[in-house]
Formats: sequence, structure tokens, C-alpha cells
Amino acid sequence: MSDTTYLKSLLKAHADFPKKGIVFLDIFPLLRDPLAFETLITHFVHHLTSKTIPNSASKKIDVVVGLDARGFLLGPIIALRLGAAFVPVRKQGKLPGQCVTAKYEKEYGSDSFEMQADAIQPGQTVVVVDDLIATGGSAKAAGELVAKLGGNVIEYLFIIELMFLKAADKLDAPLYSIVQSD
Ligand code: IMP
Repeated sequence: MSDTTYLKSLLKAHADFPKKGIVFLDIFPLLRDPLAFETLITHFVHHLTSKTIPNSASKKIDVVVGLDARGFLLGPIIALRLGAAFVPVRKQGKLPGQCVTAKYEKEYGSDSFEMQADAIQPGQTVVVVDDLIATGGSAKAAGELVAKLGGNVIEYLFIIELMFLKAADKLDAPLYSIVQSD
């Protein structure tokens, strides 16, 4: 069985969560299996270090940005493996000190993300990580925060991509996903 097939087999679909009509894909069974978790992280790190990202072959990754909340479970481990910094993007009002803010659309209404203003230096090379990309609204907002601080996002990374929502079209850098779902 390939790594991807193995990881995919552990994802669990929950019908009608968090509300009726939504099928929620749960990554936690994958994190419960130490071999699968290790495979997942190694897959991301191998991808990031094997010159597969367009126009970034020689660039060292300086910062891994993780999105609130499941991006916090993946980002720090990937950052440690790369020798990079980890920077969280959090919902508005959760981070101390001066912050930059970006608004994004959710299914109903909008929300705001924040990043600490001194977290990224101009010119730094950044990757953004989360468990799943749906519409791409949250990833796009994270990209805007990085850009406000002068960083360059070279790729957006996810375990799962919901293909029918075409999030890649919204982003300013390539999108990489391990599992593509319809
Ligand atoms: P987007 O902003 O529409 O791309 O939604 C992505 C955000 O919603 C991410 O932070 C995901 O963690 C979360 N999300 C949406 N649907 C799911 C799901 O089925 N499983 C896990 N997370 C989800």
C-alpha cells in the first residue's frame, strides 16, 4: 500500500457535522496511529526538501505558518524538522502584542485572523500549513498576513483538498495536498 493510500484509509468522514448536510473529514484517527503520523510528517518534509515546488528549488524555508487550530498540530513538527521558525495564525483577539489582521469569509459571515507583527521578517521564505482546505478563504487570509509583513509564501500545504471548491485559484502560490477529495 502506498503512503498516500495508507493515510487516506485512516481519514474518517462524519456525516452532518458540525451541522446537517456537511460531511466532516476527521484527521485525528491518523494522528492516533504513530506510524501514520510519522509517515504524514515525513511526506511533507520530503516534499518540501525535494525541489518539487516551482521557482523555489534553492530557497531555504525560514518559517512554517500554521493555521488555528489543526495547523498547530502539524506546523511545529514540520518546522523543527526543517530547522525553521513556527508562527501561528490565530483567530482575532488571541495573540498578545502588536498584530496584523486579515478578514476572511466563512460559510455564514466573516471572521478575522491575526499574526504577531514581529513574527516574520521582510524577505523570509514561508510555507502555510493546515489540515484541510475547503474554499481557501482562511489560507488566503494567512497569505495576506505573511505579505503584510513582507514574507514570501512559496507553497500552501494540506493533508486534504476539497477539489470541487477550486481553492487553488484563490491563492498566490502553489497548493500541495496529499489527499484530494471530491
Ligand atoms: P476554508 O477557509 O473554507 O478553506 O476552510 C478551511 C478551514 O476549515 C480549515 O481550518 C479546516 O480545518 C476547516 N475545515 C473545513 N471543513 C473541514 C473538514 O471537513 N474537516 C476538517 N476541517 C475542516
